[in-house]
Amino acid sequence: MMATRFDPRVIRRDFPTLEQLIHGKPLAYLDNAATSQKPQAVLDALDAYYEHDNANVHRGIHELSRRATIGYEEAREKVGRWINAKESAEVIWTKGTTESLNLVAMAWGLDHVAEGDEILISVLEHHSNIVPWQILARRRGATLRYIEIDDEGRWILEDLDTLLNERTRMVAISHVSNALGTINPVQRVIEAAHRVGAVVIVDGAQGAVHTKVDVQALGADFYAFSGHKMCAPTGTGVLWGKRELLEEMSPYQGGGEMINVVSRDESTWAALPHKFEAGTPNIAGAVGFGAAVDYLADIGMDGIIAHEKALLAYALERMAEIPGMNVYGPRSLEERSAVISFTLGDAHPHDISTILDTQGIAVRAGHHCAQLVMKHFGVSSTARASFYLYNIEEDVDRLVEGLGEVARIFG
Ligand code: PLP
Repeated sequence: MMATRFDPRVIRRDFPTLEQLIHGKPLAYLDNAATSQKPQAVLDALDAYYEHDNANVHRGIHELSRRATIGYEEAREKVGRWINAKESAEVIWTKGTTESLNLVAMAWGLDHVAEGDEILISVLEHHSNIVPWQILARRRGATLRYIEIDDEGRWILEDLDTLLNERTRMVAISHVSNALGTINPVQRVIEAAHRVGAVVIVDGAQGAVHTKVDVQALGADFYAFSGHKMCAPTGTGVLWGKRELLEEMSPYQGGGEMINVVSRDESTWAALPHKFEAGTPNIAGAVGFGAAVDYLADIGMDGIIAHEKALLAYALERMAEIPGMNVYGPRSLEERSAVISFTLGDAHPHDISTILDTQGIAVRAGHHCAQLVMKHFGVSSTARASFYLYNIEEDVDRLVEGLGEVARIFG
């Protein structure tokens, strides 16, 4: 079979949200690092689920419950295959990366981190990969240590061997930075962490969207990611973990579905993955996540990655023409993904975003839940344009034109 050419103009037609006018102008959606738009295939899967199959999972023996359970579990298998998990029982549904990271910080951390132990994270992390570890460190009397970053927003790893030591219990690092787009050399840190016996969780909220993830090849112990950034519904996410670690972990929340036997004083836990899925889960969301993975698999990650890279290169080149433009992050294209964080002269990033919005261009302004990164660069916020499979050169051209106007106003 001949491979079909990756064509973002055709792909765009799958996304109804992109077809609207915003303030009378066509929408250029460049806020993908926050959340992606959803293709019709995912919307159809949600409709079909609610119109025909809606019931609670696992508990019922009636037909609708059977169908809902099949849809929910088939989606888990699809996502497991997508990240090359050894088995789908290692795929735990969560409501997003944040919940996945908190799950590990509490369910693994409280039992394994003791006074005087160390947790290693990096300055580049999203708040959801900082705050849970601060909470854990405070509760257990542990110390948080940081991998620092250089002036291009890349990890400084020369002193990795001193940052890691026999007291390091957990290393929590991002695959791709949402604030700068840096693609981090996670494998190197995973290997070094394992040499001192530490457990590693990778925050894949951006990594799962912009890279081809193979959790077995990567070699981390846990990988956390969100469905809503990769075409799936909001409120969906995954914690992947190695079976042996998940098996010996305590549950995160107690309730229905996660138990085997409940007696007056104690209970026993259900098998994986259900031990970590207390209560009625986001069944429709999981079904939608499965449809999103089918959709992306059909297009192919190779095409998506190449397209994003080309768009990134084009955008960086064109943005460099704008007087006063200051782009943060690695200069080398190899080391960065589809995110451009920038400031423009004296214009406040909120003003940049507001002016662009009047032209139908959606970019984010703020600290991007990465205040340590902002502090590193001596700014309180940046504007951020982020790309995905449906963005086209015209979106970049319009962004550059809009930024030209911002430069004229504030110049
Ligand atoms: N980590 C990174 C790198 C992110 O980009 C995000 C979201 O922007 C998160 C964690 C948190 O993801 P969620 O809000 O889906 O839980």
